[in-house]
Amino acid sequence: MANTSYPASYYAASANPAPSRPALQDDVETDVCVIGAGYTGLSSALFLLEHGFKVTIVEAAKVGFGASGRNGGQIVNSYSRDIDVIERSVGPQQAQLLGNMAFEGGRIIRERVAKYQIQCDLKDGGVFAALTAKQLGHLESQKRLWERFGHTQLELLDQRRIREVVACEEYVGGMLDMSGGHIHPLNLALGEAAAVESLGGVIYEQSPAVRIERGASPVVHTPQGKVRAKFIIVAGNAYLGNLVPELAAKSMPCGTQVIATEPLGEELAHRLLPQDYCVEDCNYLLDYYRLTGDKRLIFGGGVVYGARDPANIEAIIRPKMLKAFPLLKDVKIDYAWTGNFLLTLSRLPQVGRLGDNIYYSQGCSGHGVTYTHLAGKVLAEALRGQAERFDAFADLPHYPFPGGQLLRTPFAAMGAWYYGLRDRLGF
Ligand SMILES: Cc1cc2nc3c(=O)[nH]c(=O)nc-3n(C[C@H](O)[C@H](O)[C@H](O)COP(=O)(O)OP(=O)(O)OC[C@H]3O[C@@H](n4cnc5c(N)ncnc54)[C@H](O)[C@@H]3O)c2cc1C
Repeated sequence: MANTSYPASYYAASANPAPSRPALQDDVETDVCVIGAGYTGLSSALFLLEHGFKVTIVEAAKVGFGASGRNGGQIVNSYSRDIDVIERSVGPQQAQLLGNMAFEGGRIIRERVAKYQIQCDLKDGGVFAALTAKQLGHLESQKRLWERFGHTQLELLDQRRIREVVACEEYVGGMLDMSGGHIHPLNLALGEAAAVESLGGVIYEQSPAVRIERGASPVVHTPQGKVRAKFIIVAGNAYLGNLVPELAAKSMPCGTQVIATEPLGEELAHRLLPQDYCVEDCNYLLDYYRLTGDKRLIFGGGVVYGARDPANIEAIIRPKMLKAFPLLKDVKIDYAWTGNFLLTLSRLPQVGRLGDNIYYSQGCSGHGVTYTHLAGKVLAEALRGQAERFDAFADLPHYPFPGGQLLRTPFAAMGAWYYGLRDRLGF
C-alpha cells in the first residue's frame, strides 16, 4: 500500500520527533471513530478522551498531513465571515451564541500548549494590515464589533504605529490583536497527537476511511481493517474527497501556497517584524506572513480554486513577498509548498450530523487554526448530549456552489477574479 508522506515543507523539515504509527490491520471497537488527524480530529479526540470516551483515529496519511501541518501558522480569531454578516443572515440570538465562541479557539490552543507542554514556537500578537483607507475603516468597525463580544486585546494602528511593527511601506494602518499570534503548525498537531495517545487514544496512520457503513453501530472501513463505533466524527476537510457525498456539493477544496526563506539572521528579521507579530493584509485574496523560530520569513498567499497544484509556487508567491519587502530581493527561498483548505459559499463552517451518530465539521474557508480547535470542543459537547453550541453552527444555512461539481471551480474563479480586481482598485 502507498505510504503517503508529508510534502517537502519547512514544517516537515523542522518537525519534532514523532513515532511512525501503524496502519489499521484489524477489526476494532471504540466509542468514537474520528476520520482525519488534523486539528479538527485531534481537538475532538482530546476533548472526548478528557471526558472518558474511548477514541480511535484513522488518518489517511500522517498526523497533520493536511492543512493543519502546512498552514501559515497564524492564530486568527473569529470566523472567515465576521459576526455582523452572520447576524444579518441568522438573526441576533444565534449570532450572539456564535459571537460568544469567536475568540475561544485561540484560548483552547494556548491551554493545550500549556497543559501538554507542546513545543511549537507559540508567539502572541497578530496584525491585520490595511492597504486602503476603506480597509482601515472596516478594521475600526471590526474592533467595535469584537469589543461588543468581550474581546478587548485590540489596538488600532495608524500609519506611524504600523511602521513600528512591520517594515512594509504599503500599509495605511492596521489592527493589532494580542490574543492572535503564531505557531509551528505541524508541531502543534504532533504535540496534540502525543496528548491523545497519552490519554489512551489510538491513532492509525496510512489508514484512509474508504467506506462508512451507516446504521445503529456504524463501521468505518479502511483498506485492511474496520472500526465499529458508537459515533463517527468526519474530520477530513479538504482532503475528504467523496467519502460523504452529502458534504461534497456544498464545499470546494482550494489550494493556497506558502514559501519559506532561508534564515534571515536576527538583524534583518528584527528589521522586518520587530515584535515578531504575524501579519495578514485585509485583501479578499490576502497575503499572510510571519517569522519562524529560526528567523525565516514564511509568506503565503494566492488561491487555486479546485485545489490543483501549481507548477511553480515560488514564481507565484515570491513576487508578492518582494512587493511587501523589496529588501528581500537577494534572499533565497528554501521551501515552497501548497495545501488545501475547504471553501463554502458563505465562508462559514459546515457543521452537522448525519443520522443519529455521524458528526462532521469542515469548511472554515481559510481561517481555521482557531475554529478547528473550538470545533473539537463543540463536537465533543454534542456527543455528550449538550448540543446548544453545536446547533448554533449546525443551523447555519449552506448552499451548493453554482454550476454543481462540474462548473463550481470556474464560477468560483470568476468570483475570485472580481474580488481580486476590487482589491487592486481599492473599492
Ligand atoms: C497553505 C495553508 C495555509 C493556511 N494558513 C492558515 C493560517 O495561517 N491561519 C488559519 O487560521 N488558517 C489557515 N489555514 C486553514 C487551516 O489550516 C485549516 O482550516 C485547518 O488546518 C483545517 O483543519 P482540519 O483538521 O479540519 O483539516 P486538515 O488539517 O486538512 O486535516 C484533515 C485530515 O484528514 C485526513 N483525511 C482526509 N480524508 C480521509 C479519509 N478518508 N480517511 C482518513 N483520513 C482522511 C487528511 O489526510 C488530513 O490529515 C491554511 C490552510 C492552508 C492549506
